[in-house]
Amino acid sequence: MQVYHGLPEGFESNKYDMIVVGAGYAGAVCARRLAETAGFRVAVLERRSHIAGNAYDYLDDAGVLVHKYGPHIYHTTDDRVHEFLSRFTEWTDYQHKVLANIHGTLMPVPFNHASLKLAFGEERGEELFEKLVSTFGLNKKVPIMDLREKNDPDLAEVADYVYENVFLYYTMKQWGQTPDQIDPSVTGRVPVFIGDDDRYFPGATHQGMPKEGYTELFNRMLDHDLIDVFCDVDARSIIEMRESTIEICGSVYGGEVVYTGPLDELFDLDLGALPYRTLDMQFETLDQDQFQPVATVNYTTSEDFTRITEFKLMTGQQVPGKTTIMREYSHAYEPGSGQTPYYAILDPENRALYQSYRSRVENVTNFHLVGRLAEYRYYDMDAVVDSALSLSDELIACHN
Ligand code: FAD
Ligand code: UDP
Repeated sequence: MQVYHGLPEGFESNKYDMIVVGAGYAGAVCARRLAETAGFRVAVLERRSHIAGNAYDYLDDAGVLVHKYGPHIYHTTDDRVHEFLSRFTEWTDYQHKVLANIHGTLMPVPFNHASLKLAFGEERGEELFEKLVSTFGLNKKVPIMDLREKNDPDLAEVADYVYENVFLYYTMKQWGQTPDQIDPSVTGRVPVFIGDDDRYFPGATHQGMPKEGYTELFNRMLDHDLIDVFCDVDARSIIEMRESTIEICGSVYGGEVVYTGPLDELFDLDLGALPYRTLDMQFETLDQDQFQPVATVNYTTSEDFTRITEFKLMTGQQVPGKTTIMREYSHAYEPGSGQTPYYAILDPENRALYQSYRSRVENVTNFHLVGRLAEYRYYDMDAVVDSALSLSDELIACHN
């Protein structure tokens, strides 16, 4: 792998069989697969000054490994994804746990057996737990919006408590809307758990953190003789979409193009901007070993920020006497402001707008969209890798 900063003079797109826009999971997986399986020469264009997309991590001034774009915990049930990523890293055995600060009391989230007893007291908590078990079964996950629909006074008592104290205020901060107003799949990511497992991802068959960090994982994934990476290059400066072709540096490009950025940006938002939420992340290094009991504490009934992450507790890094924490403040994304579009706002109107943009590239047969931004999806890392592996398989099949 050669890494350039900026586009060197005399850059010729035609020297490459594939141009990839974005060096996050979506782009890096496609670059690696096509280079090693189809012998493609690949140019990866990345507008940031580093690889790894939103999974980028680095050592801060105190020597603490932090995640610049928010806390990333790897978890998956997909063996193919796990096998692929495990070629580039070993994993720690970290199991993510989250506590919600509910009016000053810390309770496990997803809301579980222990949370019930903390919220309702030992005896009533146990009664309510029995009711949940007899209704849904032991070790089942129930989305809060499903629980709210049950017509039973005991279940309503649990549903009301969890809705009010875990979801309502946090969701208002994160999305600017109530849980009833947003797509149910979003709150469904954190269902009530009817059991004792207190992990945030109880169903994950593979979970952990990359032993040397995410950036190193990407270094290894992109480390291939046929891959060149060009950081600090906004692909829009050289890419022009036409009705059924794509021009790069002023000429029609005949190779494959994998695009992992926001689709509206390619058309200068001419149909309107795809709405996103963005985050302000405030990092603080403290002169102490540990700040909080677990890596993430969600503030579900107080504060302006949504959660505090303490990175050392996630990565397992030993840095005596210092720890770095980060608070996340969510607000509406303003296109063109330099903010990062983090979370697509999934509602029917926005999905329709996305489809309108998408229909404009459907005739460009060598142009492929993949990833959280390009597909306008709420994808975890493993889902993006899965999507990129599938696209790579299609491209490899076409060129064999
Ligand atoms: P990205 O990582 O966003 O990469 C796209 C890249 O394309 C970026 O580097 C961008 O700079 C570049 N780009 C865009 N446009 C252009 C252009 N015009 N020219 C050149 N380059 C361009 N997932 C989990 O599995 N576990 C977690 O714990 C987790 N935590 C998260 C926490 C937060 C706060 C957020 C926002 C996301 C989290 N995710 C998590 C999701 C994870 O970040 C994504 O699934 C993953 O990073 C998506 O990869 P991607 O390649 O699709 O997009
Ligand atoms: N959520 C909440 N309270 C919590 C945790 C999650 O209200 O304590 C809701 C909130 O709407 C959030 C969504 O569930 O956006 C998904 O949470 P998750 O932790 O999966 O969000 P992410 O880590 O992707 O930001």
